[in-house]
Amino acid sequence: MIPIYRMSVIHIEITNACNLQCSSCTRFVGHHKKPFFMDLDTIAKAIDSLDGFPNTIGIMGGEPTIHPQFKEICLLLQKMVPNKKQRSLWTNGFNWKKYESIIKDTFDSNNIISNDHTDKNTGEHQPLLIAANDVIEDKELMWRLIGNCWVQWRWAASITPKGGFFCEVAAAQDHLFNGPGGYPIKKGWWNKNPNEFMDQMKRYCINCSAAIPMKRESAHYTYDFVSKSVAEKLKKAGSPKFLKGNYKLVDFKLTEKDIEKIIKEGWTPWSHRPFKQSALGVKKKITQRNL
Ligand code: SF4
Repeated sequence: MIPIYRMSVIHIEITNACNLQCSSCTRFVGHHKKPFFMDLDTIAKAIDSLDGFPNTIGIMGGEPTIHPQFKEICLLLQKMVPNKKQRSLWTNGFNWKKYESIIKDTFDSNNIISNDHTDKNTGEHQPLLIAANDVIEDKELMWRLIGNCWVQWRWAASITPKGGFFCEVAAAQDHLFNGPGGYPIKKGWWNKNPNEFMDQMKRYCINCSAAIPMKRESAHYTYDFVSKSVAEKLKKAGSPKFLKGNYKLVDFKLTEKDIEKIIKEGWTPWSHRPFKQSALGVKKKITQRNL
């Protein structure tokens, strides 16, 4: 784990609504009874809380352009974050035509991340709903894997309407399982070392499979892979996707030997497509998720 203040991006999750419903979505789209839309005051508070954060401030969803106040959010960002190169947007291209002009005014072309999930021939995701705690009996091994989680190394921390989180998947999990929320959205909440966000790691990482080497699965399946303890949590949370039966229950254990084999076979869960994402309408290589 790296300190939050060293991470390359902290996202402001303005909504978890999306036009798509991918398998193993990092925001668990399809499992929420109702999506959230962060209000402008909270967005302003979130931006203000990042005062002094030296790296990128990401606007993220769900699909952020679905937020009914997306234009106002862009204007707020322009006002509160003077450096255009510090602002970034993750979009799957939905509403691109509608918002192209304001998106280009607000975000540097290198920081418009085209997260296109529509090509049915490509796209594989690491399963996220197979609890590490269910599949790894050796807990020392489990924590060693979690300590090296690629999501936290490569991706982002997050602010949701429920607070600040050291990891974007942990933030989504908090929503999914009706967790207690994150750190209060106050200036400098992100100024934390791993030992200072251990409370969140203990709460979320054990229910997550991001850090556990396993096969990537098609993002286009209509179902998610779910382990026993997660199935119980989804049922309790009233997940619509779960209640419709759109899940596959898995029950397996991994030893250190199994894990070494999977890693040696070339486990690269971050490369979920065989091409690099590039900014919409701009043929430049992006830098954030392709490191
Ligand atoms: S194990 Fe899951 S919750 Fe923990 S850091 Fe990795 S992605 Fe985030």
